[in-house]
Amino acid sequence: MGFSTIAIHAGNDPDSATGAVSVPIYQTSTYAQDGLGEHKGFEYARTQNPTRSALEANIAALEGAKFGYAFASGMAAIDAALKLVVAGDHVLLGDNTYGGTFRLFDKVLKHYGIEFDLVDTTDISSVEQAFKENTKMVFVETPTNPVMSVTDLKAVSELAHARGAKVVCDNTFMSPYLQRPIDFGVDIVVHSTTKYLNGHSDSVGGFVALSDEKDAEHIQFIQNSVGAILSPFDSFLVLRGTKTLAVRMEAHDKNGREVANFLTEHPKIQKVYYPGLVSHPQHELAKRQQTGFGGMVSFETGSLENAKAVLENVRLCTLAESLGGVETLISHPASMTHASVPIEKRESLGITDGLVRISVGIEDVEDIIADLDQALS
Ligand SMILES: *Cc1c(COP(=O)(O)O)cnc(C)c1O
Repeated sequence: MGFSTIAIHAGNDPDSATGAVSVPIYQTSTYAQDGLGEHKGFEYARTQNPTRSALEANIAALEGAKFGYAFASGMAAIDAALKLVVAGDHVLLGDNTYGGTFRLFDKVLKHYGIEFDLVDTTDISSVEQAFKENTKMVFVETPTNPVMSVTDLKAVSELAHARGAKVVCDNTFMSPYLQRPIDFGVDIVVHSTTKYLNGHSDSVGGFVALSDEKDAEHIQFIQNSVGAILSPFDSFLVLRGTKTLAVRMEAHDKNGREVANFLTEHPKIQKVYYPGLVSHPQHELAKRQQTGFGGMVSFETGSLENAKAVLENVRLCTLAESLGGVETLISHPASMTHASVPIEKRESLGITDGLVRISVGIEDVEDIIADLDQALS
């Protein structure tokens, strides 16, 4: 079956009680039992909820995974995936992951005995050299935020598996429509559903998708034991969002390419970061590994002053953190999403004071370009 058919039908069976075509919001905390130990598979809503189960079946199918678990946020999902390692284990973490992921390692997991090292995962030989005796996991994000570096998922997976380590990929920027990490050997896919999967900037959530039965049992155990579950209402919203994922991602991708081309030709812009441009260092890899380039574009304006002028003069684009919604959002990584990254590290990654990031929405692209054009002038 094709992607859109799966998106619309997986997990979305008509409600058995009423025939409702849309999965109802089962807003309940508990379920009546027929007798002692006799129930319909639902006992308590932290453990099981039909709306959440529908979403879990849906996104697992979209990622080509056997199992899926929905969490209260992307960070809760990432934290659950990291409970597959224990004190004394070492994790290789991409050196340019989402700031919250770095913070989780650096300020939380470290205190529980999880060791980690940062590594440039776009360079396979660096990954190879960084392996230690106790490396049990490699955590990658591709493309990265905001400079859009691309990691070779197949190469990293082969390397890690040969050394007995699992690979986790944060697939938030691409969504399963543009990239399916499990097809390249990745073991566990994590998402912030807050972004493209929900797609409408009106819900915070996260997801873990995987196929290994034993690891899946553990993630489910963690989901129930720790309790950071996605609510029935948010499950409903994300399930509604994924039905249109294919058409939205097509539109984000088309607009993203056009905005990237416009910016490339603009005399006031020094550099554009977008994997769809031939000038991007991993353009060929992105073409092989992704089925599109998506809607995330960053560009260098040269100075904080210039960046500020663009950010404060846009009218249609909204100055805000987050990404992946239908509306175009524009942000300043150095002072917003990456403010906690030390300045030397930030500069070495290309996150300068003049860098501006756009999450290109699905408005008419001429209007987005006209807005950027007037703000730039
Ligand atoms: C937003 C984001 C997260 C965190 O997700 P929340 O839903 O905000 O907790 C993780 N990874 C990436 C790539 C993100 O963009």
